[in-house]
Amino acid sequence: MTHEVSPMTHEVFNQPAPLVNYNLFTSNRAMQDAVQFNAPGLDVAELAEFGALLGTSAMQTHARLANLHTPQLHTHDRSGHRIDQVEFHPSYHVLMATAVGAGLHGAPWTNGPHAHLRRAAAFMLFTELEPATLCPISMSYAVAPALQGNTAIAAQWLPLLASRQYDPELKLFSRKPGVTMGMGMTEKQGGSDVRANTTQAVFEADDAWGRRFRITGHKWFFSAPMCDAFLILAQTAAGLSCFFLPRVLPGDEALNPIRIQRLKDKLGNKANASSEVEFHSASAWLVGEEGRGIQQILEMGVMTRLDCALGTSGLMRQALCIALNHASQRSAFGKRLIEQPLMKNVLADLALESEAATALALRLAHAFDDPASTHESVMRRLLTPVSKYWICKRGSHFAQEAMECLGGNGYVEEGGEGIMARIYREMPLNSIWEGAGNIMALDLLRALRKADVGAALAQELAPARGAHPALDRLVTGLPARVEDMATEVEARRLAQDVALAVQAALLFQSAPAEVFNAFCDSRIAGNWGQAFGTLAAHTDFDAIIDRAMPTGHSHDYTSLTPASHLTPTTTPFLESTP
Ligand SMILES: Cc1cc2nc3c(=O)[nH]c(=O)nc-3n(C[C@H](O)[C@H](O)[C@H](O)COP(=O)(O)OP(=O)(O)OC[C@H]3O[C@@H](n4cnc5c(N)ncnc54)[C@H](O)[C@@H]3O)c2cc1C
Repeated sequence: MTHEVSPMTHEVFNQPAPLVNYNLFTSNRAMQDAVQFNAPGLDVAELAEFGALLGTSAMQTHARLANLHTPQLHTHDRSGHRIDQVEFHPSYHVLMATAVGAGLHGAPWTNGPHAHLRRAAAFMLFTELEPATLCPISMSYAVAPALQGNTAIAAQWLPLLASRQYDPELKLFSRKPGVTMGMGMTEKQGGSDVRANTTQAVFEADDAWGRRFRITGHKWFFSAPMCDAFLILAQTAAGLSCFFLPRVLPGDEALNPIRIQRLKDKLGNKANASSEVEFHSASAWLVGEEGRGIQQILEMGVMTRLDCALGTSGLMRQALCIALNHASQRSAFGKRLIEQPLMKNVLADLALESEAATALALRLAHAFDDPASTHESVMRRLLTPVSKYWICKRGSHFAQEAMECLGGNGYVEEGGEGIMARIYREMPLNSIWEGAGNIMALDLLRALRKADVGAALAQELAPARGAHPALDRLVTGLPARVEDMATEVEARRLAQDVALAVQAALLFQSAPAEVFNAFCDSRIAGNWGQAFGTLAAHTDFDAIIDRAMPTGHSHDYTSLTPASHLTPTTTPFLESTP
């Protein structure tokens, strides 16, 4: 008698379907409520359309390919001439064209009311798809205020910076339908302390763009070197000054001698080329006053810091959605993961963090929409370092926990399909660049010195007075702590407390009571552990999770595990472990 052996080793089941073809905006209740809170009645049709596009499988494939096939540097052509060009995968250019087409780099400078807020929401949505391409997009957005320091250049470049057409070719700006810009501050011997910059600028002549200098030196980090121009810092006799440095020179249309030495081999942010460069007597034009370069370029830094807060909030939302999608479909110990009490605690806790980050980041963006308001200008100054510090500080911890919701699958890249792994590698970056955590906390102290911050903060928090006893205790003490000005060693704690108070006040006004109460109980009343998943037992986990679900209701999902494979247990882990 012969025994027949099936050639099939196993059936694949209980592996969740990926999260794809969904609308990133209409499925994001927290974002919709935060947008309406800051701009009641705002028409969000464009955001909904953009959200649908970004959720498609085609766009997800472009994001995967742009990160898998990383940029390649070509320093010379085959005849030995310097060309200093970076070649990208075609999907990178599709992503860039999509971001530029949506106005993520320049729309607020030409569009009407709430333009920064609308752009901020769209920027967050795009981050959920692919954050690395947003580096040149963010710098192109951020450069506009600083570039006003040279009116001749601003008149010619700002319209192109706001154009919705993307042209990747390296050629004279006036031959292009749209341009992008980057920035160069960091040198080998100092990044946070740019006063250590050694790059030299020597005056050459005056021309149509103002005072032209020759730049000799280097930059240790120089992201997106295929941008059409950069704002950089260099030393003159008057001190550190800000310069406009184009890649292609007006006149003979020659390449400005900016030598790309190599591309950085980075942990994440793979689709974006970050380079090291040398300037070999490159031509650059003064922007702003000679000797006041730090103040000038910091106008750009303020806006890129906003984008760090927005970017991390977007990444949190994406990681949360992937975790919710997975936990809704995957079963273990007889139940879907999303039904397991302890997993509910983890997911609800992540949802609170994500919603609080969204609320704070969009509140900050709103402050950029009303330059004439004194309150908004104090909020802009105060909440920029606070949001950049706190939201980005929470990002990596968040990504690790969201990844763990997927178990081993979360740690696997598989040709770029493991999006959670990409998010995890990306997360620390927003906390480091544009001023790392300590620099942000110290910048908060500088902000406190400049304006009547205590009174403005009290006004901002007033709507939530009496809503939660722990929040009341925190809020009562804050204006005095702000007025007294913390010492340097206390700066991180102050930044954290201001962030938490503002987040709670925002959630009180824009989120359901169960979200606000759970946030205050955990983050402010101290009824919380050191890890995610430690909310109090009385928390309304289902309400918080349902609000955060990317597609449908958490109960709408059905287990992918055939009933015959389920083994119901009451105390899952302990009873099934030998
Ligand atoms: C992928 C990537 C791309 C980048 N792209 C660009 C770019 O395009 N252009 C550009 O100019 N830069 C760029 N940077 C550089 C980035 O902005 C800097 O790395 C960052 O600002 C920190 O500077 P640093 O690396 O010199 O660190 P340092 O300045 O040496 O700081 C190291 C640590 O010390 C802390 N620290 C510094 N001073 C103090 C203090 N007084 N008190 C307490 N703590 C302090 C900092 O918070 C930080 O944690 C990029 C960086 C990365 C990783």
